[in-house]
Amino acid sequence: MTRHPSEATLLAYAAGTLPVPHGIVVRTHLALCGDCGGNLALATALGGAVLEEMPPAELAPGALARVLARLDQPAPPAPAPRRVPSTVAELATGRWWWIAPGMRLMPLLKRGRDDARLDLIRVAPGMALPGHGHTGTELTCVLQGAFGDATGTYHAGDIAEGDEELDHQPTALAVGQDCICLIATTGRLRAHGWLARLVQPLVGV
Ligand SMILES: [Zn+2]
Repeated sequence: MTRHPSEATLLAYAAGTLPVPHGIVVRTHLALCGDCGGNLALATALGGAVLEEMPPAELAPGALARVLARLDQPAPPAPAPRRVPSTVAELATGRWWWIAPGMRLMPLLKRGRDDARLDLIRVAPGMALPGHGHTGTELTCVLQGAFGDATGTYHAGDIAEGDEELDHQPTALAVGQDCICLIATTGRLRAHGWLARLVQPLVGV
């Protein structure tokens, strides 16, 4: 594993400002990576230091009195605990959808308020995805196999980050097993070619 999340992405993860799908991709990498733990601790400490440097905010008038009054009231009933599935194993319970020869997709999280979605994509060795650009960010973690594009090659555990600047045609490397990637995207793909334009409306990416 040689490719890790950027400092900006780790900082955003530590600050809790990444879209949920992107956070799951980072968490998946962190579970596999021994190297990023120290950087995450640093990012969290940096976030804390930034908070400490911020000027204190004025309390609303009467806020203290309202808090003190609330202490005397009976506690409201605790909301039922609701655990949000947050690991690939918990999320990957659907079926693989055929999208093109040698390519399957399992949607994990639909596009939400943050305009982000999470998918698993499975590509047979040697197969290339249709070339495409992006209107938003793309964060990928390789779970199995390997793929390559103009930015380099990515193996299990590696993170690939892209944005509006990225225009690529990822190809699964012939390493003897399908390449399975966890992909968080915001925005839409800009498909090139008839195959991509055919697949895009079917898949909704
Ligand atoms: Zn790492």
